[in-house]
Amino acid sequence: ITAAGISSQTSSLANSLRVELGERSYPIEIGQSLLNDSERLSRLINGKQVVVITNTTVAPLYLHVLRASLLAAGKKIIEIILPDGEEEKNWSNLMVIFDRLLAEKCDRKTTLIALGGGVIGDLTGYAASAYMRGVPFVQIPTTLLAQVDSSVGGKTGINHPLGKNMIGAFYQPQAVIADTATLQTLPARELSAGLAEVIKYGAVIDAGFFDWIEENITKLMARDSAALAYAIQRSCEIKADVVRQDEREGGLRAILNFGHTFGHAIESGLGYGKWLHGEAVGCGMIMAADLSHRLGHIDVIAKDRVTALVRAAGLPDIAPNLGSQRWLELMQVDKKNEDGQIRFILMKPLGGYLISNVPQDILLATIQHLATG
Ligand code: NAD
Ligand code: MG
Repeated sequence: ITAAGISSQTSSLANSLRVELGERSYPIEIGQSLLNDSERLSRLINGKQVVVITNTTVAPLYLHVLRASLLAAGKKIIEIILPDGEEEKNWSNLMVIFDRLLAEKCDRKTTLIALGGGVIGDLTGYAASAYMRGVPFVQIPTTLLAQVDSSVGGKTGINHPLGKNMIGAFYQPQAVIADTATLQTLPARELSAGLAEVIKYGAVIDAGFFDWIEENITKLMARDSAALAYAIQRSCEIKADVVRQDEREGGLRAILNFGHTFGHAIESGLGYGKWLHGEAVGCGMIMAADLSHRLGHIDVIAKDRVTALVRAAGLPDIAPNLGSQRWLELMQVDKKNEDGQIRFILMKPLGGYLISNVPQDILLATIQHLATG
Protein backbone atom coordinates (compact mmCIF):
# COMPACT_ATOMS: atom_id res chain seq x y z
CA ILE A 1 0.00 0.00 0.00
CA THR A 2 1.47 3.30 -0.98
CA ALA A 3 0.53 6.91 -0.48
CA ALA A 4 -0.42 6.97 -4.15
CA GLY A 5 -3.32 4.71 -3.25
CA ILE A 6 -2.57 1.63 -5.29
CA SER A 7 -5.72 -0.44 -5.20
CA SER A 8 -5.91 -3.56 -3.13
CA GLN A 9 -8.66 -5.84 -1.93
CA THR A 10 -10.30 -3.35 0.35
CA SER A 11 -9.94 -0.40 -1.98
CA SER A 12 -12.93 0.71 -3.99
CA LEU A 13 -12.94 2.81 -7.13
CA ALA A 14 -13.35 6.50 -6.68
CA ASN A 15 -13.13 9.71 -8.59
CA SER A 16 -10.88 12.24 -7.02
CA LEU A 17 -10.56 15.98 -7.40
CA ARG A 18 -8.81 18.71 -5.47
CA VAL A 19 -9.93 22.00 -4.04
CA GLU A 20 -6.93 24.21 -4.80
CA LEU A 21 -6.42 26.66 -1.96
CA GLY A 22 -2.66 26.74 -1.53
CA GLU A 23 -1.66 25.19 1.78
CA ARG A 24 -5.35 24.64 2.57
CA SER A 25 -5.89 22.46 -0.53
CA TYR A 26 -7.67 19.16 -0.05
CA PRO A 27 -9.01 16.17 -1.98
CA ILE A 28 -12.64 15.24 -2.57
CA GLU A 29 -13.10 11.53 -3.23
CA ILE A 30 -16.39 10.25 -4.60
CA GLY A 31 -17.44 6.65 -5.06
CA GLN A 32 -19.47 3.65 -4.05
CA SER A 33 -18.82 2.10 -0.60
CA LEU A 34 -15.92 4.35 0.39
CA LEU A 35 -16.96 3.95 4.04
CA ASN A 36 -15.80 0.34 3.81
CA ASP A 37 -12.43 1.29 2.39
CA SER A 38 -10.05 1.32 5.34
CA GLU A 39 -6.98 1.97 3.23
CA ARG A 40 -8.50 5.06 1.71
CA LEU A 41 -9.55 6.30 5.16
CA SER A 42 -6.08 5.59 6.48
CA ARG A 43 -4.55 7.64 3.65
CA LEU A 44 -6.96 10.57 4.01
CA ILE A 45 -7.18 10.83 7.80
CA ASN A 46 -4.04 11.88 9.66
CA GLY A 47 -3.25 11.01 13.24
CA LYS A 48 -4.27 8.11 15.40
CA GLN A 49 -7.04 9.66 17.49
CA VAL A 50 -10.30 10.42 15.70
CA VAL A 51 -13.64 11.68 16.97
CA VAL A 52 -16.63 10.75 14.84
CA ILE A 53 -19.55 13.14 15.20
CA THR A 54 -22.89 11.98 13.85
CA ASN A 55 -26.57 11.88 14.75
CA THR A 56 -29.24 9.45 15.90
CA THR A 57 -30.52 8.87 12.34
CA VAL A 58 -27.19 8.29 10.61
CA ALA A 59 -25.47 6.36 13.42
CA PRO A 60 -27.62 3.20 13.17
CA LEU A 61 -27.20 3.21 9.38
CA TYR A 62 -23.49 3.87 8.92
CA LEU A 63 -21.53 4.28 12.13
CA HIS A 64 -20.76 0.57 12.48
CA VAL A 65 -19.32 0.44 8.93
CA LEU A 66 -17.16 3.50 9.49
CA ARG A 67 -16.07 2.25 12.91
CA ALA A 68 -14.92 -1.10 11.48
CA SER A 69 -12.94 0.61 8.72
CA LEU A 70 -11.32 3.09 11.10
CA LEU A 71 -10.37 0.29 13.50
CA ALA A 72 -8.87 -1.65 10.59
CA ALA A 73 -6.93 1.51 9.74
CA GLY A 74 -5.51 1.49 13.26
CA LYS A 75 -7.42 4.52 14.56
CA LYS A 76 -8.54 5.13 18.14
CA ILE A 77 -12.16 6.22 18.00
CA ILE A 78 -14.39 8.38 20.15
CA GLU A 79 -18.02 8.68 19.04
CA ILE A 80 -20.43 11.52 19.67
CA ILE A 81 -24.05 10.94 18.63
CA LEU A 82 -26.18 14.07 18.66
CA PRO A 83 -29.93 14.40 18.22
CA ASP A 84 -31.11 14.92 14.62
CA GLY A 85 -32.45 18.21 13.26
CA GLU A 86 -31.60 21.69 12.02
CA GLU A 87 -32.46 23.09 15.47
CA GLU A 88 -29.63 20.97 16.90
CA LYS A 89 -27.02 23.04 14.98
CA ASN A 90 -26.65 25.15 18.08
CA TRP A 91 -24.38 26.40 20.81
CA SER A 92 -25.30 23.73 23.35
CA ASN A 93 -24.34 20.88 21.01
CA LEU A 94 -21.09 22.68 20.27
CA MET A 95 -20.47 22.57 24.02
CA VAL A 96 -21.40 18.86 24.10
CA ILE A 97 -18.57 18.32 21.60
CA PHE A 98 -16.04 20.49 23.46
CA ASP A 99 -16.94 18.90 26.82
CA ARG A 100 -16.30 15.47 25.44
CA LEU A 101 -13.05 16.42 23.67
CA LEU A 102 -11.70 17.92 26.89
CA ALA A 103 -12.94 15.08 29.08
CA GLU A 104 -11.19 12.60 26.77
CA LYS A 105 -8.04 14.80 26.80
CA CYS A 106 -8.05 15.15 23.01
CA ASP A 107 -5.02 17.06 21.83
CA ARG A 108 -4.26 19.21 18.77
CA LYS A 109 -3.61 16.18 16.60
CA THR A 110 -7.10 14.78 17.08
CA THR A 111 -9.09 14.63 13.83
CA LEU A 112 -12.81 15.36 13.96
CA ILE A 113 -14.88 13.42 11.44
CA ALA A 114 -18.34 14.65 10.41
CA LEU A 115 -20.55 11.69 9.43
CA GLY A 116 -23.91 13.04 8.30
CA GLY A 117 -25.66 15.78 6.40
CA GLY A 118 -24.99 19.50 6.34
CA VAL A 119 -26.09 20.01 9.93
CA ILE A 120 -23.46 17.62 11.29
CA GLY A 121 -20.88 18.94 8.79
CA ASP A 122 -21.37 22.60 9.70
CA LEU A 123 -21.37 21.93 13.44
CA THR A 124 -18.37 19.60 13.37
CA GLY A 125 -16.39 21.93 11.13
CA TYR A 126 -17.01 24.85 13.44
CA ALA A 127 -16.05 22.76 16.49
CA ALA A 128 -12.83 21.79 14.68
CA SER A 129 -12.07 25.42 13.81
CA ALA A 130 -12.25 26.45 17.45
CA TYR A 131 -11.05 23.49 19.51
CA MET A 132 -7.50 24.34 20.64
CA ARG A 133 -7.58 27.05 17.94
CA GLY A 134 -8.08 24.47 15.23
CA VAL A 135 -7.77 20.72 14.80
CA PRO A 136 -7.95 18.72 11.55
CA PHE A 137 -11.35 17.66 10.32
CA VAL A 138 -12.69 15.39 7.61
CA GLN A 139 -16.11 15.54 6.01
CA ILE A 140 -17.97 12.31 5.30
CA PRO A 141 -21.21 13.75 3.90
CA THR A 142 -24.18 11.38 3.72
CA THR A 143 -26.88 13.55 2.10
CA LEU A 144 -26.84 14.62 -1.53
CA LEU A 145 -26.96 18.25 -0.44
CA ALA A 146 -23.91 17.77 1.75
CA GLN A 147 -22.05 15.83 -0.98
CA VAL A 148 -22.61 18.48 -3.65
CA ASP A 149 -22.62 21.63 -1.56
CA SER A 150 -22.17 22.00 2.19
CA SER A 151 -19.14 19.74 2.67
CA VAL A 152 -17.12 21.66 0.08
CA GLY A 153 -15.89 25.20 0.53
CA GLY A 154 -15.14 25.58 4.20
CA LYS A 155 -18.16 27.44 5.49
CA THR A 156 -18.84 26.12 8.99
CA GLY A 157 -21.07 27.32 11.75
CA ILE A 158 -24.14 27.12 13.92
CA ASN A 159 -27.49 28.87 14.14
CA HIS A 160 -28.29 31.60 16.68
CA PRO A 161 -31.84 31.99 17.99
CA LEU A 162 -31.91 35.32 16.13
CA GLY A 163 -30.60 34.04 12.80
CA LYS A 164 -29.55 30.97 10.81
CA ASN A 165 -25.80 30.38 10.30
CA MET A 166 -24.99 33.63 12.15
CA ILE A 167 -22.07 32.23 14.15
CA GLY A 168 -19.29 30.53 12.23
CA ALA A 169 -15.91 30.45 10.55
CA PHE A 170 -14.29 29.72 7.24
CA TYR A 171 -12.40 26.51 7.98
CA GLN A 172 -11.42 24.01 5.32
CA PRO A 173 -11.52 20.24 5.88
CA GLN A 174 -8.50 18.01 5.22
CA ALA A 175 -10.55 15.79 2.96
CA VAL A 176 -14.10 15.15 1.79
CA ILE A 177 -15.14 11.53 1.33
CA ALA A 178 -18.48 11.12 -0.44
CA ASP A 179 -19.81 7.56 -0.39
CA THR A 180 -22.61 7.43 -2.94
CA ALA A 181 -23.97 4.21 -1.38
CA THR A 182 -25.22 6.23 1.59
CA LEU A 183 -27.70 8.02 -0.68
CA GLN A 184 -29.75 4.84 -1.02
CA THR A 185 -31.30 5.41 2.41
CA LEU A 186 -31.98 9.11 1.96
CA PRO A 187 -35.65 10.16 2.19
CA ALA A 188 -37.03 11.14 -1.25
CA ARG A 189 -37.58 14.77 -0.27
CA GLU A 190 -33.94 15.06 0.81
CA LEU A 191 -32.75 13.59 -2.51
CA SER A 192 -34.80 16.16 -4.42
CA ALA A 193 -33.52 18.96 -2.18
CA GLY A 194 -29.95 17.99 -3.07
CA LEU A 195 -30.81 17.88 -6.77
CA ALA A 196 -31.90 21.52 -6.54
CA GLU A 197 -28.32 22.56 -5.79
CA VAL A 198 -27.05 20.31 -8.62
CA ILE A 199 -29.43 22.00 -11.09
CA LYS A 200 -28.24 25.37 -9.78
CA TYR A 201 -24.66 24.71 -10.91
CA GLY A 202 -25.86 23.86 -14.41
CA ALA A 203 -28.27 26.77 -14.67
CA VAL A 204 -25.80 29.59 -14.02
CA ILE A 205 -22.35 28.06 -14.50
CA ASP A 206 -22.30 25.15 -16.96
CA ALA A 207 -24.85 24.77 -19.77
CA GLY A 208 -23.35 21.42 -20.81
CA PHE A 209 -23.91 20.11 -17.29
CA PHE A 210 -27.49 21.42 -17.41
CA ASP A 211 -28.03 19.36 -20.60
CA TRP A 212 -26.54 16.33 -18.87
CA ILE A 213 -28.83 16.69 -15.85
CA GLU A 214 -31.88 16.94 -18.15
CA GLU A 215 -30.83 13.78 -19.96
CA ASN A 216 -30.16 11.91 -16.72
CA ILE A 217 -32.82 13.19 -14.35
CA THR A 218 -34.73 9.88 -14.43
CA LYS A 219 -31.58 7.98 -13.49
CA LEU A 220 -30.76 10.47 -10.76
CA MET A 221 -34.26 10.18 -9.30
CA ALA A 222 -33.87 6.37 -9.43
CA ARG A 223 -30.57 6.76 -7.49
CA ASP A 224 -28.44 5.21 -10.21
CA SER A 225 -24.96 5.11 -8.64
CA ALA A 226 -23.00 6.09 -11.72
CA ALA A 227 -25.31 9.01 -12.50
CA LEU A 228 -25.18 10.22 -8.90
CA ALA A 229 -21.39 9.91 -8.83
CA TYR A 230 -21.05 12.03 -11.97
CA ALA A 231 -23.52 14.65 -10.70
CA ILE A 232 -21.61 14.90 -7.43
CA GLN A 233 -18.24 15.08 -9.14
CA ARG A 234 -19.25 17.80 -11.58
CA SER A 235 -21.01 19.77 -8.83
CA CYS A 236 -17.94 19.57 -6.60
CA GLU A 237 -15.66 20.61 -9.47
CA ILE A 238 -17.79 23.65 -10.14
CA LYS A 239 -18.09 24.62 -6.49
CA ALA A 240 -14.37 24.00 -5.90
CA ASP A 241 -13.53 26.25 -8.83
CA VAL A 242 -15.73 29.06 -7.54
CA VAL A 243 -14.36 28.68 -4.00
CA ARG A 244 -10.79 28.67 -5.32
CA GLN A 245 -11.42 32.06 -6.89
CA ASP A 246 -13.35 33.52 -3.96
CA GLU A 247 -12.78 31.54 -0.75
CA ARG A 248 -14.36 34.11 1.57
CA GLU A 249 -17.29 35.27 -0.52
CA GLY A 250 -15.96 38.63 -1.58
CA GLY A 251 -17.82 38.49 -4.88
CA LEU A 252 -17.98 35.55 -7.28
CA ARG A 253 -19.07 33.04 -4.64
CA ALA A 254 -22.42 34.84 -4.50
CA ILE A 255 -23.40 33.17 -7.79
CA LEU A 256 -23.84 29.96 -5.81
CA ASN A 257 -26.90 31.70 -4.39
CA PHE A 258 -28.86 31.44 -7.65
CA GLY A 259 -32.51 30.83 -6.68
CA HIS A 260 -31.68 31.57 -3.05
CA THR A 261 -33.03 35.13 -2.80
CA PHE A 262 -36.51 33.85 -3.62
CA GLY A 263 -35.80 30.63 -1.73
CA HIS A 264 -34.86 32.35 1.51
CA ALA A 265 -38.01 34.45 1.30
CA ILE A 266 -40.07 31.25 1.02
CA GLU A 267 -38.24 29.60 3.92
CA SER A 268 -38.55 32.53 6.30
CA GLY A 269 -42.00 33.57 5.06
CA LEU A 270 -43.44 30.12 5.83
CA GLY A 271 -41.27 29.58 8.90
CA TYR A 272 -38.05 27.58 8.63
CA GLY A 273 -38.55 23.85 8.32
CA LYS A 274 -41.88 23.91 6.48
CA TRP A 275 -40.13 23.55 3.14
CA LEU A 276 -36.67 22.04 2.92
CA HIS A 277 -33.99 24.52 1.84
CA GLY A 278 -33.53 22.72 -1.48
CA GLU A 279 -37.28 22.77 -2.14
CA ALA A 280 -37.31 26.53 -1.64
CA VAL A 281 -34.24 26.90 -3.86
CA GLY A 282 -35.86 24.75 -6.56
CA CYS A 283 -38.93 26.95 -6.65
CA GLY A 284 -36.68 30.00 -6.30
CA MET A 285 -34.80 28.99 -9.45
CA ILE A 286 -38.06 28.86 -11.38
CA MET A 287 -38.77 32.39 -10.16
CA ALA A 288 -35.25 33.58 -10.98
CA ALA A 289 -35.53 32.06 -14.47
CA ASP A 290 -38.88 33.78 -14.97
CA LEU A 291 -37.33 37.07 -13.85
CA SER A 292 -34.33 36.55 -16.14
CA HIS A 293 -36.73 35.96 -19.03
CA ARG A 294 -38.80 39.07 -18.27
CA LEU A 295 -35.59 41.08 -18.28
CA GLY A 296 -34.64 39.67 -21.68
CA HIS A 297 -31.59 37.71 -20.48
CA ILE A 298 -32.86 34.24 -21.47
CA ASP A 299 -35.37 33.07 -24.04
CA VAL A 300 -38.65 31.35 -23.21
CA ILE A 301 -37.18 27.95 -24.09
CA ALA A 302 -34.46 28.30 -21.44
CA LYS A 303 -37.01 29.47 -18.88
CA ASP A 304 -39.27 26.50 -19.62
CA ARG A 305 -36.33 24.09 -19.40
CA VAL A 306 -35.53 25.27 -15.88
CA THR A 307 -39.16 24.90 -14.82
CA ALA A 308 -39.41 21.41 -16.32
CA LEU A 309 -36.16 20.21 -14.77
CA VAL A 310 -37.05 21.49 -11.30
CA ARG A 311 -40.40 19.66 -11.60
CA ALA A 312 -38.72 16.49 -12.85
CA ALA A 313 -36.47 16.59 -9.78
CA GLY A 314 -39.59 16.33 -7.62
CA LEU A 315 -39.38 19.92 -6.39
CA PRO A 316 -42.27 22.37 -5.92
CA ASP A 317 -42.97 24.75 -8.81
CA ILE A 318 -45.56 27.06 -7.24
CA ALA A 319 -44.43 29.47 -4.56
CA PRO A 320 -46.51 30.35 -1.52
CA ASN A 321 -48.72 33.40 -1.85
CA LEU A 322 -47.30 35.54 0.92
CA GLY A 323 -48.59 38.82 -0.53
CA SER A 324 -46.42 41.07 -2.72
CA GLN A 325 -45.45 43.46 0.07
CA ARG A 326 -44.34 40.63 2.36
CA TRP A 327 -42.34 39.08 -0.49
CA LEU A 328 -40.44 42.32 -1.01
CA GLU A 329 -39.77 42.73 2.72
CA LEU A 330 -38.47 39.18 3.02
CA MET A 331 -36.11 39.58 0.07
CA GLN A 332 -34.84 42.91 1.34
CA VAL A 333 -33.06 41.22 4.30
CA ASP A 334 -30.93 39.01 2.04
CA LYS A 335 -27.21 39.03 2.92
CA LYS A 336 -26.20 39.85 -0.68
CA ASN A 337 -27.97 43.20 -0.66
CA GLU A 338 -26.17 46.51 -0.72
CA ASP A 339 -27.74 49.86 0.22
CA GLY A 340 -31.22 48.36 0.49
CA GLN A 341 -31.19 47.27 -3.18
CA ILE A 342 -32.03 43.60 -3.72
CA ARG A 343 -29.21 41.96 -5.72
CA PHE A 344 -30.35 39.07 -7.90
CA ILE A 345 -28.34 36.28 -9.44
CA LEU A 346 -29.88 36.05 -12.90
CA MET A 347 -29.34 33.65 -15.81
CA LYS A 348 -27.66 35.32 -18.78
CA PRO A 349 -27.87 33.12 -20.84
CA LEU A 350 -28.58 29.55 -19.63
CA GLY A 351 -25.28 28.38 -18.09
CA GLY A 352 -24.18 31.97 -17.43
CA TYR A 353 -24.97 34.60 -14.83
CA LEU A 354 -25.46 38.29 -14.19
CA ILE A 355 -25.61 39.88 -10.73
CA SER A 356 -27.88 42.88 -10.80
CA ASN A 357 -30.63 44.94 -9.26
CA VAL A 358 -34.06 44.58 -10.83
CA PRO A 359 -36.82 47.15 -11.46
CA GLN A 360 -39.52 46.59 -8.87
CA ASP A 361 -42.41 46.35 -11.33
CA ILE A 362 -40.73 43.46 -13.15
CA LEU A 363 -39.94 41.70 -9.89
CA LEU A 364 -43.57 42.08 -8.85
CA ALA A 365 -44.69 40.60 -12.15
CA THR A 366 -42.67 37.44 -11.41
CA ILE A 367 -44.04 37.21 -7.88
CA GLN A 368 -47.63 37.73 -9.05
CA HIS A 369 -47.17 35.13 -11.78
CA LEU A 370 -45.55 32.38 -9.68
CA ALA A 371 -46.34 33.01 -6.00
CA THR A 372 -49.92 31.85 -6.22
CA GLY A 373 -49.90 28.73 -4.03
P1 NAD B 1 -29.44 17.49 7.37
O1 NAD B 1 -28.05 17.44 7.81
O2 NAD B 1 -30.46 17.93 8.35
O3 NAD B 1 -29.86 16.06 6.80
C1 NAD B 1 -31.18 15.86 6.34
C2 NAD B 1 -31.80 14.63 7.02
O4 NAD B 1 -31.27 13.44 6.45
C3 NAD B 1 -31.52 14.53 8.50
O5 NAD B 1 -32.65 14.02 9.15
C4 NAD B 1 -30.37 13.53 8.55
O6 NAD B 1 -30.24 12.89 9.79
C5 NAD B 1 -30.78 12.58 7.48
N1 NAD B 1 -29.73 11.80 6.85
C6 NAD B 1 -28.45 12.17 6.61
N2 NAD B 1 -27.83 11.24 5.88
C7 NAD B 1 -28.72 10.24 5.68
C8 NAD B 1 -28.67 9.02 4.98
N3 NAD B 1 -27.59 8.65 4.29
N4 NAD B 1 -29.77 8.23 4.98
C9 NAD B 1 -30.90 8.63 5.63
N5 NAD B 1 -31.02 9.79 6.28
C10 NAD B 1 -29.94 10.59 6.30
O7 NAD B 1 -29.65 18.43 6.09
P2 NAD B 1 -28.74 18.71 4.80
O8 NAD B 1 -29.70 19.06 3.75
O9 NAD B 1 -27.75 17.64 4.58
O10 NAD B 1 -27.92 20.01 5.24
C11 NAD B 1 -28.59 21.20 5.58
C12 NAD B 1 -27.67 22.04 6.44
O11 NAD B 1 -26.52 22.35 5.67
C13 NAD B 1 -28.27 23.35 6.88
O12 NAD B 1 -27.96 23.54 8.24
C14 NAD B 1 -27.57 24.37 6.03
O13 NAD B 1 -27.44 25.62 6.67
C15 NAD B 1 -26.24 23.73 5.80
N6 NAD B 1 -25.55 24.17 4.58
C16 NAD B 1 -24.26 24.55 4.70
C17 NAD B 1 -23.55 24.94 3.59
C18 NAD B 1 -22.11 25.31 3.72
O14 NAD B 1 -21.53 25.81 2.76
N7 NAD B 1 -21.52 25.07 4.85
C19 NAD B 1 -24.16 24.94 2.32
C20 NAD B 1 -25.48 24.52 2.23
C21 NAD B 1 -26.17 24.13 3.37
MG1 MG C 1 -28.22 26.34 -0.78
